[in-house]
Amino acid sequence: MTAAVANRTLTALDRCDRCGAQAYVRAVLESSGGELLFCGHHARAVEANLRPLTSEWQDETSRLHEKAEA
Ligand SMILES: [Zn+2]
Repeated sequence: MTAAVANRTLTALDRCDRCGAQAYVRAVLESSGGELLFCGHHARAVEANLRPLTSEWQDETSRLHEKAEA
């Protein structure tokens, strides 16, 4: 049994799978239910190819922009 992945807010403990930076996007693969995390940079880099394969694309990059302006 694969437990449903609960929607949750990303935290500073969530890290990009590609580079280890703080993650701001959580993608859930439609096929496996696996969860992928991306920083803003890598989310944009993979979005065109990856997003059609996901059942969920949780984008919190707006928070990144808020921080960047501070
Ligand atoms: Zn990254």
